[in-house]
Amino acid sequence: MSPPPAQLLDSDEFRRQGHQVIDFIAEYYSRIAEYPVHPDLVPGFLSRRLPQNAPSRPEPDPLSAALNDVRDLILPGITHWQSPRHFAHFPASSSTVGALGEALAAGINVVPFTWAASPAATELEVVVVDWLGKALQLPKSLLFEGGGGGTLLGTSCEAILCVLVAARDRKLAEIGEGRIGDLVVYCSDQTHFAFRKAARIAGIRKDNCRVIPAQREDTFALPPAGLEDAVQADVEAGLVPVFLCTSVGTTPTTAVDPIRELCAVASPRGVWVHVDAAYAGSALICPEFRHLVEGMEAVDSLSMNPHKWLLANNDCCALWLKQPSALVAALGTDDDVILKDAAARDDGVPVPVVDYKDWQISLTRRFRALKLWLVLRCYGTDGLRDAVRAHVRIAAAFEDMVCADARFEVVAPRLFALVCFRLRPPSIATSPLEANNLNERLLAAVNATREGPYMSCAVVGGVYVLRCAVGSTLTEECHVREAWKVVQDHATLILAP
Ligand SMILES: *Cc1c(COP(=O)(O)O)cnc(C)c1O
Repeated sequence: MSPPPAQLLDSDEFRRQGHQVIDFIAEYYSRIAEYPVHPDLVPGFLSRRLPQNAPSRPEPDPLSAALNDVRDLILPGITHWQSPRHFAHFPASSSTVGALGEALAAGINVVPFTWAASPAATELEVVVVDWLGKALQLPKSLLFEGGGGGTLLGTSCEAILCVLVAARDRKLAEIGEGRIGDLVVYCSDQTHFAFRKAARIAGIRKDNCRVIPAQREDTFALPPAGLEDAVQADVEAGLVPVFLCTSVGTTPTTAVDPIRELCAVASPRGVWVHVDAAYAGSALICPEFRHLVEGMEAVDSLSMNPHKWLLANNDCCALWLKQPSALVAALGTDDDVILKDAAARDDGVPVPVVDYKDWQISLTRRFRALKLWLVLRCYGTDGLRDAVRAHVRIAAAFEDMVCADARFEVVAPRLFALVCFRLRPPSIATSPLEANNLNERLLAAVNATREGPYMSCAVVGGVYVLRCAVGSTLTEECHVREAWKVVQDHATLILAP
C-alpha cells in the first residue's frame, strides 16, 4: 500500500532529502569548472538512455538513485551556465541566496493571485519592486510611491507583451476598437525579437511593425530622426502610432537608445514608450551608468531581469509602469478595474491593494518577491553594485587584451560587461563574406575546445561578431585571460597559410 499523502510533506524526510540535495548542489559548484562548458552531443543522447515510461513504483531510495542519474546522465549533458567559462548570450545570474530563495518560495508554495489569496506575498512584492526601483534610481513616477507601480513576472517577453496590450487598449478606447488594423508599433533592428513576437500576439498587423535601422557607425542605437520620419509618414497615411519599444542594452551589442530624444518624438503623439532593459537594467544600480538613461522620467514603462545580472536566480523580471490602471484595464478579470487604496503607511503614503492576477497573463503566479527580497536583504545594494562592477572590470580587462592584438578589433563600444569582437579581415582583398566565415570558424573552434570558454555570436550590420559576456558569478579575471589565450591560439591556426 502507498503511504498516505501527508507523508509527502513529512518534515523529517524533507530535512533528510534537503541535506542531500543541498550537498549535491554544493558539490556541483565546487567542481563546475571541471566540466566542458558546452557538451559535444548528438540529439537523442539522453532519450536513448531513459525508460519509455515513468515508473509505476519507485525504486528503493529513489532520490539517491535519481541524484546519481543527475550526476552521471544529466550534468554531462547540460550547458553549464554557472561555469566561470560561460560567456555566451547573457548571464543567468546566480547566488546561494537566490537559489535558497527559490527553495524557500517552493517550500511555502502559495499562489498570490489576489491580495486576499496571500496578503503578505502581494505586499512583499509591492515593497520589493519599489525597493529595487529606488536602488536603480528609476523615476519616481514608475514606483508605487509616485503613483505608478511594479510587479515581478517570469520574463521580459511576458512584460513586453503585457504593456503592449495595455497601450493598445488605451489607444483603442480613444479611437474605437474597429481600428486595431491601423495601430503601428516601432522598434529598431537591434530590438529583441520579444517585441515582434508580442506585436504578433497583440494583433498588430505584421506590416504595421516598423523596424527602424540602427545607427551603424558607432552605437547601434535607434536614431530619433529615423523614428520621427516613420511616425510622420504613418500619421500622414492615416495610421495610428501606438507603441515604441526602446532598448537599454540591446542583446547583440548592449547598445543604449537615446531615451530622452526618442520620448520627445513619441510622447507628444500619444505613443507609449517602453524601455527594455532586460540585461543592462541591473547596471543602473551603479551611479556611473545612470547618465546613459537620461530622460527616463518620460517613459511609460520599463522592464529588466534581475535573473540576468542581479544575482536573482531564474526566473525574475521586474516591470514598472507609470499607469498600472492601463494594465489592469487590459488584463483585469473583474468588472471594476480600479486600483484600491485601502490603507496608509505610518508616513501617510497610501498602500495599494493589488490583485496581481490583473497585471499578468496567467492566474497562478510564483512568490518571486521572497527571493528578490532575500537577495536585496542579504547582499544589500552595495553588495550588488560590487558584483556588477567586478564583472565590468573583468570585461574591460578582456577588451584590453583584444585591443592589444592587432589581428583583432572590438566591433561595438563596450558599455557594460559584454565585449563584441572579431578577427579583422586579414587583407583588403578579403570580402565581407569571407571575413564572416573566418570568424564563424574561429568561434566554432573556440567552443569546441574541451577546456575552453563558451561564447556566442551576433550579426550586426552584416558583420559577424563574437560575443564575450562576462557575468557568471564564478568568473574571475584569470578565466578571461585563459579564454583569450584559447581565442588567440585558434586565430593563429586559422590564419596560418
Ligand atoms: C534577454 C532579453 C530579452 C528576453 O528576456 P526573457 O526574460 O527571456 O523574455 C528581451 N530583451 C533583451 C534586451 C534581452 O537581453
